[in-house]
Amino acid sequence: MKNAIPKSVKICAHWHTVRMCEVLKDDGDDLNGEIYHAKAKINLSQSPAASVRVETLWHEILHSIEAQGGLHLKEDAIRILAVGVFQVLCDNPEMRRAALYTHAAPDC
Ligand SMILES: [Zn+2]
Repeated sequence: MKNAIPKSVKICAHWHTVRMCEVLKDDGDDLNGEIYHAKAKINLSQSPAASVRVETLWHEILHSIEAQGGLHLKEDAIRILAVGVFQVLCDNPEMRRAALYTHAAPDC
């Protein structure tokens, strides 16, 4: 699978567009990803390994949840939560199936 990154992701109440970029920079430093909350846009760098791109998408998703929820998490908290969510989803297919099943059948 060359690129499993979705073109859009619904996060809380808003659909976010996800765009792959050749290069992302912030004050000259390379970025793996960035989010524009008001525009509901996430930009991801295509440079890192595929697993890093997906982890970065989770990182930006958590920033969106943080912003929409009025939370004030430190960057380190976002970073470890993104790693943790990504790892749990990767290593526990039963959890992925359970989430999909319960989302599709809310009365279960
Ligand atoms: Zn961040």
